[in-house]
Amino acid sequence: MNAQPAKAPPLPVLIIGAGPSGLFAAELLAKAGHVVQVFDGMPSVGRKFLLAGRGGLNLTHTEALTQFKPRYGTAQDWVAPWVDAFTPDDLRAWAEGLGQPLFVGSSGRVFPRALKASPLLRAWLQRLADLGVSLTTGARWIGFSQSGAAQFSHRDGSTSEHEGSAILLALGGASWPKLGADGAWTPILHEIGVGITPLEASNVGVLAAWTATLKSGFGGAVLKNIEVRLNEARARGDLVITSTGLEGGPIYALSPALRAALTAGPCHIQIDLRPDLETEALAQRLVKAKAGQSISTALKSHLKLAPPAIALMREATGNKLPTTAMGLARLIKATPIELNGLASLDRAISTAGGIHPDSVDGHLMLKAKPGIFVAGEMLDWDAPTGGYLLQACFSSAQHAAKGIAAWVDAHSGQN
Ligand SMILES: Cc1cc2nc3c(=O)[nH]c(=O)nc-3n(C[C@H](O)[C@H](O)[C@H](O)COP(=O)(O)OP(=O)(O)OC[C@H]3O[C@@H](n4cnc5c(N)ncnc54)[C@H](O)[C@@H]3O)c2cc1C
Repeated sequence: MNAQPAKAPPLPVLIIGAGPSGLFAAELLAKAGHVVQVFDGMPSVGRKFLLAGRGGLNLTHTEALTQFKPRYGTAQDWVAPWVDAFTPDDLRAWAEGLGQPLFVGSSGRVFPRALKASPLLRAWLQRLADLGVSLTTGARWIGFSQSGAAQFSHRDGSTSEHEGSAILLALGGASWPKLGADGAWTPILHEIGVGITPLEASNVGVLAAWTATLKSGFGGAVLKNIEVRLNEARARGDLVITSTGLEGGPIYALSPALRAALTAGPCHIQIDLRPDLETEALAQRLVKAKAGQSISTALKSHLKLAPPAIALMREATGNKLPTTAMGLARLIKATPIELNGLASLDRAISTAGGIHPDSVDGHLMLKAKPGIFVAGEMLDWDAPTGGYLLQACFSSAQHAAKGIAAWVDAHSGQN
């Protein structure tokens, strides 16, 4: 009897980037029976995920999908099928399945009870190990060989090449680059014909040229429940005065509008320091101020305005507060602040821009490089904070994993 030639073992699926997007795709593919190898350039995985945990790890949001999906703005139609197929409820069930009880905050945001990411990541990595997923750290992806193998450089200066039945790039955006995602993939993919919208800071602070008085006296102060307006756009929440400008929920929520406005140069926002009261009502309360009372005392005692709010009004008027009740009320409702830029990408919570929808097929495979899929923050979608960022990462990872499984199935026997 003739000996049959030994059948080559199937090639593994390669996942490059071990943030939440890459790790979730690895889990799904390993569960579906694929051999999965994960690579990451850093000495340990999930560093940005762990940093997100320092803020409590807002995993997702409980609002109805009809409200949830519009959070992705102009990318809504692209993101919607991913979120429909792996919903916020699915993400909650997944985290609870890893032994992480969750709670819903008053704003509808979902957090692990541990209010950090490390216990979840530990349980997750154990699950991946149990599924047989191999993990190589310190391996930085630097491109593709002629034959389509993924090329890596290692910390000891050596290089290596790995072939996969399919490859997922889940390399993140470019915020907080020291945590691993530095956007170095953009020229590599651009060169092979992938359309990429330039990476920009999102969910990031804005810069203002504060006086020394405001900077030293109120840097770090929080203004509770105010409203920020930029033309027609408005957002409410807590605003933080920093030494270089402003940050916090309402600023992050206005990221797309602020980015657009600031490309043309400095712009003005209006801050409503008492959004719960109309101008008339504010003026009526101020009229009751006693003769001889200072303006600051009147604002504090009749309107309960906190010192940082009054400091911001002084800053906006060059320390010349209006002297009439109506003038003060108008200023409280629309304190104008000039902004001269966005804080840098280094400190942004997320990245806008990335791989353009036209450059991928319906399952996030690169049209320019069949067999190479992409997921997570490296795609060109943007959303405010509130759990929308991680949700899109997990949902896009599932979408790409399904595409990879179908691709490998269709091409098995060809390698
Ligand atoms: C301070 C902060 C707080 C946040 N808080 C929240 C929150 O509460 N809720 C929320 O929804 N989102 C939050 N985010 C955003 C969220 O963490 C990210 O959107 C998410 O981590 C992106 O996941 P990703 O897997 O796509 O990319 P990343 O998490 O960035 O992972 C990409 C991985 O790829 C690796 N990599 C990159 N380039 C290479 C290469 N060339 N070769 C090999 N490996 C490479 C990196 O080392 C990294 O491990 C926060 C972000 C920050 C910075």
